[in-house]
Amino acid sequence: VLISCGSINSPKLLQLSGVGDAKDLQQVGIQVIHNLPGVGKNLQDHLEMYVQHECKKPVTLYGLFNNPFLKLYYGAQWFLFNKGLLAHSHLELGGFARSSTDFDHPNIQFHFFPSLVINHGLENPDKHAFQFHAYPNRPTSRGWVKLRTSNPNDMPIIQFNYLETEGDRQQMRDCVKISRKIFSQKSFKEYLGKEISPGIDIQNNDELDEVIRNTSETAYHPSCTNMMGIDSMSVVDTDTKVYGIANLRVVDSSILPDIVSGNLNASTVMIAEKASDIILGKQEAEPVEIDFYKAA
Ligand SMILES: Cc1cc2nc3c(=O)[nH]c(=O)nc-3n(C[C@H](O)[C@H](O)[C@H](O)COP(=O)(O)OP(=O)(O)OC[C@H]3O[C@@H](n4cnc5c(N)ncnc54)[C@H](O)[C@@H]3O)c2cc1C
Repeated sequence: VLISCGSINSPKLLQLSGVGDAKDLQQVGIQVIHNLPGVGKNLQDHLEMYVQHECKKPVTLYGLFNNPFLKLYYGAQWFLFNKGLLAHSHLELGGFARSSTDFDHPNIQFHFFPSLVINHGLENPDKHAFQFHAYPNRPTSRGWVKLRTSNPNDMPIIQFNYLETEGDRQQMRDCVKISRKIFSQKSFKEYLGKEISPGIDIQNNDELDEVIRNTSETAYHPSCTNMMGIDSMSVVDTDTKVYGIANLRVVDSSILPDIVSGNLNASTVMIAEKASDIILGKQEAEPVEIDFYKAA
């Protein structure tokens, strides 16, 4: 049996089936089949901060969002010819940065978006503007997913514990500082209007922390809740098999031990590819040495 319900529902399904932290299961009246305390623990995500600016030129997506005729036009263009403004995600531009020599990897990721994301994209912007999304790639805060009740139809309790560690808070501040540095470059000058968020008067750590706490949003990368490993909190072994239960595997983003430096889709596809090779008993490929940039 392969469980692939994602990082929220895979631990939920295991817990409903009696596989999880015995104390937590007993609390909601689930019979314990196997005490596996790591199920639902180690929850990680990318929490992102938006650094938003008004745009001095009418070159953003604002016109499109607010004009039903343009929406229709570009919608039809995409539908009929696979071309035009709606034929791509507008999030193609991004980059990585290292905020401090304490890190031996680029610890912050940026996406540039030629408009504003407000309330998860549910609200339209009211002006031409653009933004960076920036987040620490390897946050150290850890959360959990637990059953609310034994009813499968009930949502589980999801506690991310974002910004729990000072290291994560510092990296979020650095997200803002590096974004500001990039936006202050000469090439942005003709476009760069007023800083909308956090707002240029928000400068010291306390002010930044307040805005970060109030405005950061998930990048929708929940992961690591059935981590692969060999310690007592691991849920699956290196063959993706659930410890202590025969013929049961988890194959999805929940088996990552640590969140990866980047968006999760490609890594999740690779987990599935690798798991299918393991299940089919294919010979493991030889590692290939690739020359890539390493921070000094
Ligand atoms: C809004 C959004 C935007 C994203 N953008 C990007 C991006 O641009 N790039 C990127 O790399 N990643 C992106 N991600 C992240 C990426 O999509 C996920 O990390 C990835 O899909 C995780 O794969 P998964 O297999 O673990 O879980 P999922 O893709 O969530 O798959 C789990 C599947 O299990 C099904 N399921 C759940 N419970 C049950 C059940 N009880 N019974 C049967 N089926 C069940 C679900 O319907 C779902 O189809 C985004 C995620 C979201 C939500």
